[in-house]
Amino acid sequence: MSYTYDDQNIFARILRAELPANKVMESDLSLAFRDIHPQSPDHVLVIPKGPYVCYDHFANDASDAEILDYTRLIGAVIRHLGAEASVSDGYRLIANSGVNAIQDVPHLHVHLLAVRPLGRMLRDRSAP
Ligand code: 5GP
Repeated sequence: MSYTYDDQNIFARILRAELPANKVMESDLSLAFRDIHPQSPDHVLVIPKGPYVCYDHFANDASDAEILDYTRLIGAVIRHLGAEASVSDGYRLIANSGVNAIQDVPHLHVHLLAVRPLGRMLRDRSAP
């Protein structure tokens, strides 16, 4: 599978500082910022700075350094928010990828949702 990255997507524009973002944390290769339409009190998006469309694109093609940096920043944000499952009430990570998952922004992002009970993972009863 090969992916074509659209460098005009909203998150690419945030990375180039063409659009504002409410930054939570940043590392050399990754950025975390608050979702503009939060679905829980803490709703943070974590993205790699590299041009990756979705999770499998990143997992297969990113360098070890990018993957390590991204994973570590997700961990740091969870800790920063005090959402650690071991010490608090937990959180959910979601990476919508592709049409079936209704991915709206074609730059890999993990949603980090925390603070309130989040219900069951899937709520669409029409799906098999
Ligand atoms: P997806 O459906 O692609 O998994 O999620 C895209 C997310 O990006 C949505 O939760 C949406 O609210 C968020 N979003 C869209 N545009 C912007 C923006 O300009 N700034 C921020 N911070 N979030 C955005």
